Amino acid sequence: MHSIPTGRRNAATACISLSPNWKLKTMSEATKMCTSCKKDLPVTEFYPHKRAKSGLQPNCRTCARAWHKARPDYVRAKNAAYKAANPTYFRDWQRINKYGVTPEDASAMRASQNGKCPGCLRELSEHKECVDHCHTTGKVRGLLCDDCNVSLGRLRDSAETLRRLANHIEAEDYV
Ligand SMILES: [Zn+2]
Ligand SMILES: [Zn+2]
Repeated sequence: MHSIPTGRRNAATACISLSPNWKLKTMSEATKMCTSCKKDLPVTEFYPHKRAKSGLQPNCRTCARAWHKARPDYVRAKNAAYKAANPTYFRDWQRINKYGVTPEDASAMRASQNGKCPGCLRELSEHKECVDHCHTTGKVRGLLCDDCNVSLGRLRDSAETLRRLANHIEAEDYV
């Protein structure tokens, strides 16, 4: 941190202590020295570190990536352990990123569907639960079981195809 002029550092630390990644992006003038490559770099070049005083990792992003790349087994074990301790973390994160659906949104949808898949009426808790969204508008329609979700996708979300198929399997004149 020695290379940051005092005034700037104060502004930077105040901001960093709140530190989600995106906040760091707004303060690119502050710099910090990487303990590995010893380069003086913008603070945006460092990943956040919750417990560190500066709110940042000691190594720059490039050095951190190289460090992890050189230790694939360590990374795999660490990810597996994290996944075991936080079973829905990756799913929650993916849903937020892909559909903007938070765990609270999902709970609300689940409750409004009485915990059931609206297609097959099976309990969502007993089957893999998926966020169903319209491929044209991107709008989230609710939660489906994996089987129904995959089926809808295969039928290209066509209500007409679904109706024709329903008539088809209910027709009594087939051989
Ligand atoms: Zn570095
Ligand atoms: Zn279903």
